[in-house]
Amino acid sequence: MEAEVLELGRLIRSHSRPSSQSLFDGLMDAAMEDEGLKADLFRLLDVLPVLSSDDDVSRHVREYLLGKQRRVPPILGAALKAAGARALSGLSAAAVRGIAGQMAERFIVGASVSQALLRLYALHRNGFAFSADLLGESTVGNSEAEQFCQRYAALIQALSRETLGWEEQPIVDAGPRGAIPRANISLKLSSLLPRLDPLDHERSVDCLVQRMKPLFLAAAQNKAALTIDMEQWDLHGIAWDVFETLVGMRELASWPHFGIVVQAYLHSASDDARRLLAAARGRGTPLAVRLVKGAYWDFEVAHAAQHGYPCPVLVSKGATDASFESLSELFLANTDLVYPGIGSHNLRSLSHALVAARHAGAPAGSFELQCLYGMADAQRQALKDLGYRVRVYAPVGELLPGIAYLVRRLLENSANTGFLRQSTHDGVPIEDLLKAPHAEPSEGDRGAWTDARFRNCPHADFTDGEVRLRFARALQEQARLLPITVPVSAAARERADGRQLRHLCPGNTAREATRVTCSTAEDVEAAVETARNAWPPWRDAGIEERAALLERLADVLERDRFELAALQCREVGKPVREADADVTEAVDMCRYYASVAQGELGVRRLPGQPGEDNVMWHEGRGVAAVISPWNFPLAILCGMTAANLVSGNTVIMKPAEQSSAVAWRLFKAAQEAGFPPGVLQLLPGPGEEVGAQLVSHPLVAQVAFTGSRHVGLEILAAAGRAKPGQRQIKRVVCEMGGKNAIIVDDDADCDEAVAGILRSAFGYAGQKCSACSRLVVLERIYDTLMPRLLDAVKSIRVRPPEDPSCEMGPVIDQAAFRRLESVIREPGTGVELLFKGTDLPPGGWYVPPVVLLVHDASSPVAREELFGPILAVMKVPSFESALEHAVESDYALTGGLYSRSPSRIETARRAFRVGNLYVNHEITGAMVGRQPFGGFSMSGGGTKAGGPGYLLNFADPRVVTENTMRRGFVI
Ligand code: NAD
Repeated sequence: MEAEVLELGRLIRSHSRPSSQSLFDGLMDAAMEDEGLKADLFRLLDVLPVLSSDDDVSRHVREYLLGKQRRVPPILGAALKAAGARALSGLSAAAVRGIAGQMAERFIVGASVSQALLRLYALHRNGFAFSADLLGESTVGNSEAEQFCQRYAALIQALSRETLGWEEQPIVDAGPRGAIPRANISLKLSSLLPRLDPLDHERSVDCLVQRMKPLFLAAAQNKAALTIDMEQWDLHGIAWDVFETLVGMRELASWPHFGIVVQAYLHSASDDARRLLAAARGRGTPLAVRLVKGAYWDFEVAHAAQHGYPCPVLVSKGATDASFESLSELFLANTDLVYPGIGSHNLRSLSHALVAARHAGAPAGSFELQCLYGMADAQRQALKDLGYRVRVYAPVGELLPGIAYLVRRLLENSANTGFLRQSTHDGVPIEDLLKAPHAEPSEGDRGAWTDARFRNCPHADFTDGEVRLRFARALQEQARLLPITVPVSAAARERADGRQLRHLCPGNTAREATRVTCSTAEDVEAAVETARNAWPPWRDAGIEERAALLERLADVLERDRFELAALQCREVGKPVREADADVTEAVDMCRYYASVAQGELGVRRLPGQPGEDNVMWHEGRGVAAVISPWNFPLAILCGMTAANLVSGNTVIMKPAEQSSAVAWRLFKAAQEAGFPPGVLQLLPGPGEEVGAQLVSHPLVAQVAFTGSRHVGLEILAAAGRAKPGQRQIKRVVCEMGGKNAIIVDDDADCDEAVAGILRSAFGYAGQKCSACSRLVVLERIYDTLMPRLLDAVKSIRVRPPEDPSCEMGPVIDQAAFRRLESVIREPGTGVELLFKGTDLPPGGWYVPPVVLLVHDASSPVAREELFGPILAVMKVPSFESALEHAVESDYALTGGLYSRSPSRIETARRAFRVGNLYVNHEITGAMVGRQPFGGFSMSGGGTKAGGPGYLLNFADPRVVTENTMRRGFVI
């Protein structure tokens, strides 16, 4: 077979007439030689379509490309220099736009369907088939999704109608089974439903099937071929279920021109292929398949690494090529069941497939080759000349929405391992290009990412059906346990008698979530005394021993993660994904502090002079009161507790009244992990009683508090007043609220900004200290951003938190509900209501998502922490004024900037003074170890949970100096 592949490859190559070197090729050459230039060039290209004025183009050209010592192709260099210079900006900004337009034209078949039809007609006349694809911005809201659906419907109609009268081209128009549709459309699921989420699998599949069935029916009726494009791995499971459901429908079962894409780079590729063959067998009519290697490699690898998931794609290029070959063989051996489209530009892969077809005895015309419009044109021509059917994948759309597509193609063209690069630029001998790929997966193939001592616990992977099932079971199980009675657990005894607080499930107020036993003054006394007695041996136990117990606690929490998360859905109304993230954060806190404790607290030799020995270490301070809020019921309580414990303090936990059951579960987990008696105790009850008493107790040495500003300030004041019998200064770590702003610059990527704002402002109904509650938008982008943002906010599904389709759940309790309702009813003067949701489920504390336009920045909705799903928008004339607004606050917790201007990003790094600034990134969801979290000003004392140095807040430093000289003898 290898000899045949070599022979055929040579033949194809000899038929390929090399095309002349274009400006584009020159650019790609320069980019390939300089990774920095490549990145800057692509970033400039990415932002170019949104730049409305010539001045803006000049500024971005200067910021990205000029002033750096680099070699650029002369033609581009001249245009850039002129574009960067203000005087000539008009003329040369047009030149820069022109270059971008030329690039786009190379890969995009037309800006509109009518424009595209001219080129498609020419392709067909030259003996090529096509598949048209609609380019678009990512779909953020329902109305955008509906528009997309209509565009696809119109495309099916237009292509079927217009291609009817084209003159016959035998190779492309007919196969062994009869006519092959000329109208061929590829569609992307992500454009048809906003925010597809594997967690919400069933509903996503149902909605897509409903939305797509008319398109499939129209395709069958109009004799058009329709293929579902495969995108990121996240959507893989949904795509397959949608496809199988549709092609299995009685009314669609006889049309053989429905297809799906199989991506060879997926670990699941051969399962996918078998699934397709089974589906074709099941319906009794063949199906089409486009076999590709996969275009999201960079994204998949980074995404998996960021989330700690196993990487879904083969990491080595050779393994992907080998997978492609074995799948080609499989499909070409089954042309009775599938109509394969072999999609590649790689001469080896194509030659191999053609030889495999010969060996399998695949009838002539029972398969086709596919390539992308604008790529490997000479090879495409050669294949056609040799008598093969070649289909060109042809994107239709404007440059702006098509930019992501364009950049992907450019990356592909310039990747050093890319076949095109090797064949056309490096003079690699043809024998090498046609060598069989190495099949063995390389070491990294199952995602070994970092080798740091600490690794984040991955969030639950909801693409896995088994995980979804386990979560559903845990939710049912937790519901059965309600109401949960939370006892006082102190001084080696548990009690659940006396006064109790009742807390209702926020998502379903007909159900009681907890009965919380109130700790008494005697309980506090007994607990403090117990903790004090347990302290010396705990302080003196080694750090290693304490860290090992934390590791064990992390293991118990991870083992019970689904139960713990499900409990949060019930007790504090947290949606599934966020509840899961809270549990993994708690696990991370334990493991992180365990991993850094020795380095931060352990014995360190200090520099000294001869004859002297200096050592320093940190030691626990005594009894710590940990007072926590309800909004991150496990992570914050566990984080503050773990830090104190590993530092050598004994801990009394006083959780928020609304999240006491989660605290109780944490206490039980710590018992199971084996913490010695008295080292950890639980005192539930009202903050102003139990919390206040703990804070002012003379034997409490340390307070770790996270909560609201007024309580935090009260605690700081109370801790500052020494009581009779008190022998230690109390140290308070105090984390409080925020009024966080996101700035949207006039060159921002709106797709990304809308998605990030949505998650930051409405995740957990805005009840996060890090939540975005102010949006500062530059005037020039306001009219582009706001309709899309409002469409997205309108599409937010407010649902009970345990419902997998829930995007926003209830608020915590009746008090919060009433407070927020009254703000929404009367938001104050100078405030305009832009949107208020109406579709709310009954039976819980559901507040609608609200967007307000604030004309007066001093209005309370723009200054006070509201802790709910209310977003205050401000429109500003310039970036400078946006910055002024953003930092004009008592708080300094989180902040965000969406911008593609390097200089403005740099300015924001310096001047947007908050504890955690996020650039082109949502502003909630800080990861332990990677984004140490905490604010200053009125947001807190400047401590950083989950980061370096945090433990030092809970321990006293000690230094011992010894004179090591004896009678002049130095050791
Ligand atoms: P809260 O201040 O009402 O309660 C926090 C804790 O303090 C609870 O355990 C409560 O019982 C206790 N408490 C109340 N009064 C007390 C008193 N007088 N003395 C001692 N303890 C007392 O806050 P919350 O409603 O539970 O949480 C929401 C607040 O927490 C928001 O302001 C939010 O921004 C803030 N928060 C900040 C961070 C951060 O890291 N900066 C993180 C999460 C939440």
